[in-house]
Amino acid sequence: MQGLIMDYQLNVPAILRRGEQLFGEKEVVTRLPDRSWHRTTYAEFGARARRLGAALRKELGLTDGDRVGTFCWNHYQHLETYIGAPVSGLVTHTLNLRLHPDDLAYIASHAGDRVLIADKVLWPLVEAFRERAGFEHVVAVGAGETPDGALDYEDLLASVSETDVEEREIDERAAAAMCYTSGTTGRPKGVVYSHRAIAVHTLAAAMAGVLDISEKDVVLPVVPMFHANAWGFPFTCTLTGAVQVFPGPHLDPQSLLEAFAQEGVTVTAGVPTIWTGILQALDADPGGWDLSRLRAMVVGGSAAPQSMIEGFERRHGIKVVHAWGMTETCPLGSVSELTSRERALPEAEQYAYRAKQGIPAPYVEIRARGAEGLVPWDGETMGELEVRGVWIASSYHDAPETADRWTDDGWFRTGDIVTIEPNGFIEIQDRAKDLVKSGGEWISTVALENALMGHPAVLEAAVIAVPDEKWSERPLAVVVLREGATATGEELREHLAPRFAKWWLPDRVEFVDEIPKTAVGKFRKTALRERFADAAVESR
Ligand code: ADP
Repeated sequence: MQGLIMDYQLNVPAILRRGEQLFGEKEVVTRLPDRSWHRTTYAEFGARARRLGAALRKELGLTDGDRVGTFCWNHYQHLETYIGAPVSGLVTHTLNLRLHPDDLAYIASHAGDRVLIADKVLWPLVEAFRERAGFEHVVAVGAGETPDGALDYEDLLASVSETDVEEREIDERAAAAMCYTSGTTGRPKGVVYSHRAIAVHTLAAAMAGVLDISEKDVVLPVVPMFHANAWGFPFTCTLTGAVQVFPGPHLDPQSLLEAFAQEGVTVTAGVPTIWTGILQALDADPGGWDLSRLRAMVVGGSAAPQSMIEGFERRHGIKVVHAWGMTETCPLGSVSELTSRERALPEAEQYAYRAKQGIPAPYVEIRARGAEGLVPWDGETMGELEVRGVWIASSYHDAPETADRWTDDGWFRTGDIVTIEPNGFIEIQDRAKDLVKSGGEWISTVALENALMGHPAVLEAAVIAVPDEKWSERPLAVVVLREGATATGEELREHLAPRFAKWWLPDRVEFVDEIPKTAVGKFRKTALRERFADAAVESR
């Protein structure tokens, strides 16, 4: 017997219709490059997003499934493209503006982007790859003169009228957006999100126990819109009617804190390196900003150290929500919200759970595989995390050589080495490529980093594997000390000693001024490995 329910399409147009019909007066706020503030409403954003879609089709000749590249900071025009392209049957493809021009040229041409929509303030960067990428049209966004060979974004919008806008029927399995992995561990690979994946991800992200977003929220995603779908916020906010605040290019701690206070931000999100800077600023000037409305700071992309989670909460009363995800998982995979089970534990254990990556979101299933097959959920046995679910990638765009990232029964191999607790909490021990394999055993660099960053003198710590004749690899810690603080390698090893087996302790600690970061703000361990590859040998 078949269910007798409408075959309603789960798509981005349905998300926009809800946002504009029910929350037309809600605001979309942007900090412009000149630091002034731009304010618009959902009604206006919806109308402009639709006009953009119509113009891309009518004026520039795009048709169903064509890719629209974006090369922009987080702002209202980027939101218009994000939603306007899929609503008109096109595919938004966000380009990471911190990548090298060679990578950008490769990614844009591999994706087949026909049009690029780019910020005028980023123009020198655009020129460095636009020719090689082969765009048919380049559209320039923002104030100031329109660069040579580009169309002005506002002129493009003005080229069509309301009557050119058509409501399209869009198959929920059609592509809505594309995003390439940020390439932390290899050549970027393209993930193609379907409308259906985004629609269900949006619903799940809004749930209590997941990211818990509703109409009463004011959300400022620090995470760039080009990083893993902006963690779904543009869609989640539009569906629920939450106010959206975009920081534009102003991502320094002072500007962000100002924006949180001025706009009464309730939820914000970004990678740990952003929050390290914010925590330092707050510690230096605890009463400096009124953050009384800020109820959740979502941290993901790399492990959030427990000391950071505790620091925000104990010293500033701000709740950190630790989440795990990947470009390939739309990106939400798991969220570390405690259930009543963990809430019954002593406070110290609760914090330890909050520093894990949490339980999978609804419609995401997990398992982990070791050398001998699937590992038990005992919180101890390490294995590679495999996931499946409504919004998990089933292959990469035009990359048949990557088919082995999926198991024979269709689960995605994440490349993350985890343990899973009996209660379903995932703890990321490492990326498979970053693990230290010492004497046939695995050492979690994430666990060592987490503990090092719990030392009062340590601002940032990255642990890498260096070659070792006897053990094959040994851990080496690269540490940035807080301003004015001192510590020796021996002191840091003593700090670690009670927490880890002796053979886990880094043989050597290197002090540096700064840890190199990737295009999305993660520790660039490949660079550290190159720099310190011979360190272990030297120290012998
Ligand atoms: P890239 O692989 O290029 O860094 P992504 O941003 O998609 O691109 O990265 C996903 C990876 O980031 C995950 O596979 C995992 O290794 C890491 N990651 C994401 N969130 C967390 C987290 N909360 N804790 C630890 N690692 C995380």
